[in-house]
Amino acid sequence: MIRVGINGYGTIGKRVADAVSVQDDMKIVGVTKTRPNFVSKMAAERYGLYIALPEHLDKFEKSGIDVSGDIEDLLERVDIIVDCSPAGVGAKNKALYEKYGVKAIFEGGEAHDLTKCSFNAQSNYREALKRDFVRVVSCNTTGLCRTLNAIDELAKIKEVKATMIRRATDPGDSKKGPINAIEPVLKIPSHHGPDVQTVLPHIKISTMAVKVPTTIMHLHCLTVEMENDVCVDEVIDTLENARRVILLDGADGIRSTAEIMEYARDIGRKRGDLYEIAIWRDGISIKENTLYYYQAIHQESDVIPENIDAIRSMMGEEDAEESMNKTDRSLGII
Ligand code: NAD
Repeated sequence: MIRVGINGYGTIGKRVADAVSVQDDMKIVGVTKTRPNFVSKMAAERYGLYIALPEHLDKFEKSGIDVSGDIEDLLERVDIIVDCSPAGVGAKNKALYEKYGVKAIFEGGEAHDLTKCSFNAQSNYREALKRDFVRVVSCNTTGLCRTLNAIDELAKIKEVKATMIRRATDPGDSKKGPINAIEPVLKIPSHHGPDVQTVLPHIKISTMAVKVPTTIMHLHCLTVEMENDVCVDEVIDTLENARRVILLDGADGIRSTAEIMEYARDIGRKRGDLYEIAIWRDGISIKENTLYYYQAIHQESDVIPENIDAIRSMMGEEDAEESMNKTDRSLGII
């Protein structure tokens, strides 16, 4: 049994914890919180709660929440820690993981240089094999890698140009915005293109991004110049067979990210999560060797199966397909 700890029990951390807990080869030893609140209470009952910042011990003691120790106690009890703290905080935590000789996964808010290994299971599972430190790329980069890797195998990509239409914040967050504006990322290319190249260095890609007042999903508009002469049906066939990708139809009434999220709730996904990248089948077209398509990303959940596969790869499971099959079966991925 692989013993797993989660440092940072927020949007990503709670989902990774739930996903680990349904694997038959790993278990959650505990999760950390920085402050006592309703989430800490639930975490204590469900998984065992450790204090992320030991200087807040008195606050936890006053709250009466049952605590199993602090982050250093947790590190003594695990084989691997998944750092799901806010962007940039993971880099500061790395020295502690080194001190305890514990392997660590970082998330997409950290820089590639922190681990020198950026991970997307379908693209480079074996690069993480037996490594001590790995970064699972961001939700947007995961979506780009999943579909572009599949299309590249079919059509040999010459160049990609993509625009990310990004959700303002996550549904559980009442602090960030914009709430009534569209905010372009002025630094061009946006970081997404170079980030794809940390996983798929041979893909020539440039990206732009804008933030819009929605919380449920990101949407990507992709333009892909291809070397091979392929038709729309071949692209559809490839994407239908690609792992962790689903094709949905505007003709069925799926006109926006709202209906995609409704679909995820209707198929009974926990929290209404959609681990797969959703592509509009009837939005795929080809004009003179250039492929156009739209894809929607459920930012809170698409990286969750990748974290599970990263754990297996780092712990020495050599067979990528075996790991991904196991992960997909356990999470009910289509
Ligand atoms: P979040 O804010 O929802 O959760 C972060 C958690 O870490 C919070 O519970 C916070 O209290 C806790 N925390 C704060 N300081 C800490 C510390 N020093 N040590 C341990 N825990 C600490 O953030 P999130 O959205 O879950 O993001 C986590 C990581 O995942 C980031 O790198 C982010 O870029 C990445 N990511 C986020 C999304 C997304 O859409 N939310 C998608 C993919 C990847």
